[in-house]
This record gives sequence, C-alpha cells and structure tokens, in this order.
Amino acid sequence: MATENDLCRIVIEELTRTLGQHAEELTELDQAIGDGDHGINMKRGFDAVMADVEKLAGQSWPEALRGIGMTLVMKVGGASGPLYGTLFLTLGKDLPASPAKGDWVRSFGVAVKAVQARGKAELGHKTMLDVLLPISADLEAGMHEPTAIKERAHQYAEATKPLKATKGRASFLGDRSIGHLDPGARSSALMIATICDILERVK
Ligand code: ADP
Ligand code: MG
Repeated sequence: MATENDLCRIVIEELTRTLGQHAEELTELDQAIGDGDHGINMKRGFDAVMADVEKLAGQSWPEALRGIGMTLVMKVGGASGPLYGTLFLTLGKDLPASPAKGDWVRSFGVAVKAVQARGKAELGHKTMLDVLLPISADLEAGMHEPTAIKERAHQYAEATKPLKATKGRASFLGDRSIGHLDPGARSSALMIATICDILERVK
C-alpha cells in the first residue's frame, strides 16, 4: 500500500516524465497558434519541481501542492505559469491536511475557479479551462473511474480544435486559430491522464 508520501513522489515523477516526453508536441501545438514555448515552459517548470522532490514528498499534501505551485509560478513564465501556479497553490490552500476523496473534488473545483478568475477566460475560449472546467464538473457529478476521467479529458482537449481563441496569444490569430488543438488544453489533459494512470495503478 503506497503511503501519501510515496504517492506525492510518484505524482511528481510521473508528471515530470509526461511533460518531458510531450514537450516537443506541446511546443509544436504552441507554434501553430502561439509563440512555440509551451512545451519548454512546462518541462522547465516540472524539472524544477522534480529537483525538489525529496523535500516535497516529505510534506503534507497542502504543503507540497503549495510548493509545486510556487515553483511553477517562478519557473514556467508565460501565461501558463501563473495559471498552473494558481491551480496548484489554491489546491494546496484549500485542502485539509489529510484530504479524503471528497475534499480533492471540492478543492479541485475551487482551484479551477481561481484559474478562471486569474485568466478571466470562460468555457469555449480555447484555453486549458476547456479541459479543467468540465472535468471539475464531471468529478462533482460523481464521475470517479480514472479511465473514464482520462478519456473525457482527452475528448475535452480535442474539442478545442474547432474553437476560435479569444484569450491569450492564440487570440491574436482570430479565425486562424481554428483547426488547432489548444496547447494548454492538451497539457491539462496530459496531466489529468497521468494522475488517472497513477490512481488506476494504486487503487
Ligand atoms: P504564453 O501564451 O504566454 O506563451 P504558454 O505558451 O506557456 O504561455 O501557455 C499558453 C496556454 O495558456 C494556452 O494554450 C492556453 O491554454 C493558456 N492560456 C492563455 N491565456 C489564458 C487565459 N487567460 N486563461 C486560461 N488559460 C490561458
Ligand atoms: Mg506560448
């Protein structure tokens, strides 16, 4: 049985691995509708988190998540750094010291709303929120099978393709943003899938 500390370490290791493996893909997506740095940004952020894994894995979930959030704010840069930073920081601030399943669902909802308040984007604006908001709603509606959540996250990311971006750099392209997957939606789906795979393994 994995302890909370083991789980925290696995989550950090696997997120770092996923974002490293997909850095080129995320960068290519961002080359199409942004400035081509999303993969590099996310990899740099999680490599920095990974450098702190010993310390983070020894902390409670709220402390570790706040630590991850602060590192992302400092290292990722761009639009996504403060936004993903806000996601992890708020999750860390909202969760109790020993979170139960329901606490994760509720605090994830609070964290996604904080991202929305920070970025001032709505559903359908072709951003990471097009994955984060509906996944939060699915969780609140009781969806709990990791495989189903992972599939949904990928579908929500794919569904950003036909959308026209109205927030972030991609909005500068107007109609030319149509037909491309949003890089932040893809990175959100990848992170959610990574966590679902871990939950599937440890359940
Ligand atoms: P930058 O756009 O500054 O180069 P990144 O390339 O790292 O930063 O991240 C781009 C991603 O950030 C977009 O694909 C989108 O998902 C997300 N994003 C940009 N602006 C916003 C916003 N206002 N609200 C939510 N997400 C946003
Ligand atoms: Mg970019």
